[in-house]
Amino acid sequence: MRIGVIGGGQLGRMLAEAGAGFDARFTFLDPSESACAAVHGRHIQADWNDTAALEQLLAASDAITFEFENVSSDVVAMLAEQRPAYPPARALATARDRWSEKSLFRSLDIPLPPVAKIDSQADLDAAVADIGLPAVLKTRTLGYDGKGQKVLRQAGDVTDAFAELGNVPLVLEGFIDFDHEVSVVAVRGRDGETRVWPLVRNEHRQGMLHCSVPQIDHPLQAQAEDYANRVLAELDYVGVMAFEFFVQGETLLANEIAPRVHNSGHWTIEGAETSQFENHLRAVCGLPLGSTARLAPCAMLNVIGALPERDAVLAVPGTRWHDYGKAPRPGRKIGHITVLASSDAQLQERLNAVEQLLTNDLG
Ligand code: AMP
Repeated sequence: MRIGVIGGGQLGRMLAEAGAGFDARFTFLDPSESACAAVHGRHIQADWNDTAALEQLLAASDAITFEFENVSSDVVAMLAEQRPAYPPARALATARDRWSEKSLFRSLDIPLPPVAKIDSQADLDAAVADIGLPAVLKTRTLGYDGKGQKVLRQAGDVTDAFAELGNVPLVLEGFIDFDHEVSVVAVRGRDGETRVWPLVRNEHRQGMLHCSVPQIDHPLQAQAEDYANRVLAELDYVGVMAFEFFVQGETLLANEIAPRVHNSGHWTIEGAETSQFENHLRAVCGLPLGSTARLAPCAMLNVIGALPERDAVLAVPGTRWHDYGKAPRPGRKIGHITVLASSDAQLQERLNAVEQLLTNDLG
């Protein structure tokens, strides 16, 4: 099968690695000359909305997917008229706009932080009076890894905040004093079959994911799956989707969805019976989905900004090394390390050992 992927970063690279067993051939559309997925396929170096490049991608593909959210949903809708193209354009349109995303949660009775739509400083002043401080101001589109966000703690932070974030459409969210953050990664096939991986506990640093640990028998697993299934069914979704939540006591509050394979699902490459990348491909191509069971205690650590000494990491038992082949730059995700163990205690020991070796530079 021939798969066209919009985007050629590490997610595309790992999709292609998962496709090797299916003899899948990949073509990546990415404007960067150093797109790191290109080692595994053909690279069309052009903008996401370059008509001639999209024609080339169509000609080279039996099915099309995307590995990031900067592409417009109109492009995906256009491609879907000519080839199976998943996830659906509507899911992308919803996830690209924080207000649409939160409106979807509300319409499906999924709890979420207090939120208001902000189109002016006057809207912001009114929302702060309503929601209170602290609160988090976020751009409605194109935000990621904590970028395009500002935490408002006191009245002085509010004064020019609309202009400070660029006079663009925003949302204001109540600041949630959460116990911790979790995500679930789920996959839905073309026939509507859905599978969900174990809930993952995530630790962020400076808004970027640092560590993901899949949990077995987490008390909120069923609740998270229920919310995920509501969204997947409503969007008639096909492919992998990630759902991020804040945990407060017994409650899950929805933060955001990502209509693609997700960083908090990288542990599945070695830690689950079927990885998120393989199941995404299976879904997009209409193949039966694989089991999402966890195989062993495991965790994933992101490598950001600088690679640690590889041989020292590999000397820690149970580690798996993923270098994306990207030039190191502060704040850039350039790899990840999966740590596998035979018990939770052993996992913690190994994680501590690897953490000490990390030289992450968050910028
Ligand atoms: P986001 O890009 O919305 O996922 O935000 C990135 C990170 O910022 C989240 O994973 C949280 O750690 C933090 N964050 C975002 N929104 C809130 C909020 N409403 N309350 C507290 N922390 C937040």
